[in-house]
Formats: sequence, C-alpha cells, structure tokens
Amino acid sequence: MRVLLQLPEGLKDKAFKLAERLEREGKEVVVSCSPCYGACDVALEEARRYGADKIIQYGHSAFKLRGGIPVEFIEYRTPVKFKKLLSRALKELKDFRKVGLVTTVQHIGQLESIKQFLKGRGKRAYIGKHGSRARYNGQILGCDWGSIKSIEKEVDCFLYFGGGVFHPLGGALATEKPFLAVDPFTGNVRWMGEERRKELRRRKGALLAAIEARRFGVVCSTKPGQFNFKKALAIKKMLEAEGKDAQILICNELNYESLNNFLEVDCFVNTACPRIVEDYARLRKPILDAEEINKVSGNSHTL
Ligand code: SF4
Repeated sequence: MRVLLQLPEGLKDKAFKLAERLEREGKEVVVSCSPCYGACDVALEEARRYGADKIIQYGHSAFKLRGGIPVEFIEYRTPVKFKKLLSRALKELKDFRKVGLVTTVQHIGQLESIKQFLKGRGKRAYIGKHGSRARYNGQILGCDWGSIKSIEKEVDCFLYFGGGVFHPLGGALATEKPFLAVDPFTGNVRWMGEERRKELRRRKGALLAAIEARRFGVVCSTKPGQFNFKKALAIKKMLEAEGKDAQILICNELNYESLNNFLEVDCFVNTACPRIVEDYARLRKPILDAEEINKVSGNSHTL
C-alpha cells in the first residue's frame, strides 16, 4: 500500500519515526514537505501524483472531505500538567463564577479534568457544543467557534487552555466576553482584551480603506477544505455591481510577497482560511474577510 504522510509544521520533526513505523508494517511511504495548516489542508494533489492509496494526516482531528483518496487522521494529544498553572489562572478569574472552557484537539482529552478542577474551587465550568468543522465539544478551530458561541450567553468569561496566538485571538474575537488564555507551554496567563482591541482597530482601518478602494483582489485557495470558489465569484460579482473592479486570485499556498506584487490592487478579500489573519501585517494593502465585505458594499447583498 502506498501512503502519503502529512504533518503540520510543529510535528514535522516526527516524520521519520512515523514513516519508518509505517514501512515496518510493509507500507510504501512518502512524506509531504509542503506546509500543512489544518485538517482541511490535505495534500490531495501530491497524493494523486504519487499514486497514493491513502493519506495519513497526523496531528488533526477528522474532517469531512471529498477527494477520492481515503484520508486517515491521527490526532496528536499532549497531556500536560495543569494544576499549578490553573491555580494562577484562578487568581485572574476571581471576579467570575461561570467559566466557558475551550481548547484545541491537542488538549481536548484534559478538558473534563480541567472542568472538575475548577468546579472543586468554586467555579461553574461549561464546555460548549462544537460546530460543523470541529469534532469535539470544547474544541475550537479558526473556522469553527461553535464551542464558544453555544455557551456564550451562559458564561461570564472564557478560558482557553493551549498554546499559540491564533486560537486565543480568534476566540477572543468570536465573543465579547472576557477571554483568558492559559498557555501550558510558556506558562503565560493573559487576558486577550488588548490583542482583541488591536485586531479590531486593524479591521476597522481595513474597512475604511476598503470603502475608498477601486480594485479588489478576491483570494481563493485550492486547499481542499478551504476552496470557496462560489463565494469568491459572488463577491466579485457583488463588487462589480457596485462599480468596482475585482479579480479572483487563485492559489494553493498563499504567498504574501506575491500578493504584494499585485500593485494595482487596493484591497484584498480573503475567502480562504480565516487563520491567515495572523500574517496580515505582511501585506502592504488592507485585507478583509469574506464576511466583512458586506459592510463595505453597504448594500443588501449577503454572501
Ligand atoms: S480552514 Fe483554517 S482554521 Fe479551518 S481547519 Fe483549515 S487551517 Fe484550520
């Protein structure tokens, strides 16, 4: 059996060990060295070229995809010690009783223990229902904030347990409730209020710039779970109906340097993964998410 093995950036150092294990099982293996950002980002084209019977994507939870080649998702879980860190977080939570808990798949197995830990210290902890793209209750993805939205009205604040910047920032933007990020890797416990305000300011600036913009580049990624061509086309048509110029810019891997070379473009619209918000600062022109473009057009089109 021919297997294409795919790993996200943070786990590529485990590629050889995993590939060798698969080879010992009698499989023929190649490893994708393309970047991999999420479960939606399956290397179908590489697998087709290689003639793979199966893709194994390591690190992410299962994701519904139609691509013709079976994909096995192997989750990566990292149990970590949390009691000391959460004791520090509790000091920050002193004014809140009802706490919504969210995390990534990496720590999802510990969320119930974290809930019990908080419960034992006088808090009411809630785990929300995931949306259509995530797999577990309490799990958040850049394109699925269901675990936040489903309990937003019930809780006083949210606690995100996990690493990185993208998930806590995205989570903080998905709700108006105070949002505490507890990072077991750095030991940082921080409220996301300032980052949220900064990002909202950036978005407001982008919106204002977009109102004046004449030429729009509508970015569409061909990554299997991000391909939103219909939406890109609808945005192009909507902008043209508003008297603007718009072209769809299609790519697999979004490259900021290449986008910066489109000097005629006044404003970009992103229909691909919302997590590229992390890198917006690398673009010389403003960029809006697909949902934000309605605010610019000021018309009745809802995409
Ligand atoms: S679209 Fe983005 S946030 Fe959603 S699964 Fe893919 S990489 Fe993750």
